[in-house]
Amino acid sequence: MANTEDNLFKNVISHAKEYGFIFPSSEIYDGLSAVYDYGQNGAELKNNIKEYWWKFMTLLHDNIVGIDAAIFMHPTTWKASGHVDAFNDPMIDNKDSKKRYRADQLIEGVIEKLEEKIEKEVEKAAKRFENFDRAMFVTTNARVVEYQKKIDEINDRLKTAMANNDMVAMKQLVDDLEIADPISGTKNWTDVRQFNLMFSTEMGSVADDANKIYLRPETAQGIFVNFLNVQKTGRMKIPFGIAQIGKAFRNEIVARQFIFRMREFEQMEMQFFVKPGEEMKWYDFWKDKRLKWHQALGLGNENYRYHDHLNLAHYANAACDIQFNFPMGFRELEGIHSRTDFDLKSHEKYSGKKLQYFDSEDNQNYIPYVVETSVGLDRMFLSVLASSYKEEKLDDGSERVVLKIPAPLAPHKVAILPLMKKDGLPEKAHEIMNLLKFDFRCFYEEKDAIGKRYRRQDAIGTPYCITVDHQTLQDNTVTIRNRDTMKQERVAIDAVKGIIAESVSMAELLKKI
Ligand code: ATP
Repeated sequence: MANTEDNLFKNVISHAKEYGFIFPSSEIYDGLSAVYDYGQNGAELKNNIKEYWWKFMTLLHDNIVGIDAAIFMHPTTWKASGHVDAFNDPMIDNKDSKKRYRADQLIEGVIEKLEEKIEKEVEKAAKRFENFDRAMFVTTNARVVEYQKKIDEINDRLKTAMANNDMVAMKQLVDDLEIADPISGTKNWTDVRQFNLMFSTEMGSVADDANKIYLRPETAQGIFVNFLNVQKTGRMKIPFGIAQIGKAFRNEIVARQFIFRMREFEQMEMQFFVKPGEEMKWYDFWKDKRLKWHQALGLGNENYRYHDHLNLAHYANAACDIQFNFPMGFRELEGIHSRTDFDLKSHEKYSGKKLQYFDSEDNQNYIPYVVETSVGLDRMFLSVLASSYKEEKLDDGSERVVLKIPAPLAPHKVAILPLMKKDGLPEKAHEIMNLLKFDFRCFYEEKDAIGKRYRRQDAIGTPYCITVDHQTLQDNTVTIRNRDTMKQERVAIDAVKGIIAESVSMAELLKKI
């Protein structure tokens, strides 16, 4: 991460804490690694992101319904899903720095560097040649061809080692690529070992292995085991989807980078059940829809890109990520996976219960195929927070920090600020608040100079500030200040609702998709 980006990320993190968005968990005991609490403003922003997702899924698609399954599930669920045997990450320690890493990520880091080199060559050539043909260039330029060959070779070896659970081959790859620890700079590595990421606990009063249960590492399985319950009671016809928002837990080996990688986090997942053979059509459909959902927020289309998976998980026949340009670079924000019939088939096998759909049009029973969209709520939160955080120099030489959060997601939509704490101004301000509070989350504040109060609202991303002054008492007008332009306008109290309503409306945001 470049130094300025590094600083920017640090500033975002301290801003999030200072303004009540995110606190380290149990901070008075010095916190708990990779666990965070959402504060008064964070909880509002998070709820608004959830609403945006939930409404998109369940209001805009009449064949998608939502559920809320329990975190605890019968332990056989995780045997059937493959998590007990295969939800592992390969870990490796550097003996000098004593830091732990994921071996696959160290290797992928080498691939990323090679990809960057290719991009640089492409950029250089694109500047040099008119009518630049990228496809032609990358297949003929000797240096690029060499880089690509190396990438393919590494990918092949990584894929084979992961598929065969071959940790000796993983270690060999780390050695052959001469990967050094970014902290100690040495290549003094331990062997690579597999580490299961599920948290377990005991249910009931007797602590023995028979009572061992897991905290769910993904919300998806709660949907699979309820597939027939929902299909039958909801009289759902294929294709249809089940959506869910809920907590997931993973004992991540490397849990750094703030809320990007946490041990307790939230997922927003939707499983879409389709007829076998039609899964690729729906995979493409959801890839496109989900990108549009992200882009409608207006955080900059250039900040998103697809990343197709070369190494497919055991259950998938196609998979890609929507990556976002986080402060530390492009990283996975959402996964879109074509999961075949793996999960339902496996639950059929382990439970002995039929999990099939009767297709009345074709007059046949089958196990549906599944296309899933899975986005991390906390990563969504980070994408919104980090890209809306702006440090601005103003014309008068002063500076401000403003969160240009998309207005429908902002924790508060409007702040109501009496200019003074006397002369009936607070009473009038409360009157206005009583008019607005049924439609918008309002923030009331009467302490400190008005300029300071504006800055505080900028810092928590409130799109509008309404100032009540002496003129208000005479002619029922107020000034309304726009967070982004800082322009102030004098308007009638009756007009305020109309001015705010459209730009903060979730419905209007949903219409943009
Ligand atoms: P990664 O490769 O970053 O570990 P993943 O591919 O294991 O992620 P999935 O299992 O596809 O992730 O989970 C779906 C989504 O859940 C991810 O796109 C991400 O947004 C979110 N997610 C996964 N793990 C975490 C975590 N530890 N902390 C926060 N969000 C997470």
